[in-house]
Amino acid sequence: MVTSEEENRLRKFGDIFRRGKVLVYLKRVDGKCVFFRSGICAIYLERPMACVKYPFYFKSTGEEESYFAGVHVYVDSNCPGVVLGCPTKSFVDTIQSLLRNEKLIIV
Ligand code: SF4
Repeated sequence: MVTSEEENRLRKFGDIFRRGKVLVYLKRVDGKCVFFRSGICAIYLERPMACVKYPFYFKSTGEEESYFAGVHVYVDSNCPGVVLGCPTKSFVDTIQSLLRNEKLIIV
């Protein structure tokens, strides 16, 4: 998903957005992001904040055990870099850093 600021910034790449009922997303081509080309992100330095934060995502509601510092924090378990277990200090620091970011999208 992209914020309105990101939508304005990325509009220069053409017809790349898909509109949901509330949020705006990057289009997919053959099941993959429109910017995923030759195995890499074609706009890596300009990618949306949702991509920067991946595999984390944040929700305003959720299960009690997902609640952390004011939001519900989730991790995409399909990400090959995710290891299930007790959160490390690095993990907690990363989440807190993400939560301090003003561009955080909470759905
Ligand atoms: S990181 Fe790049 S290729 Fe991957 S979803 Fe985001 S914009 Fe698309």
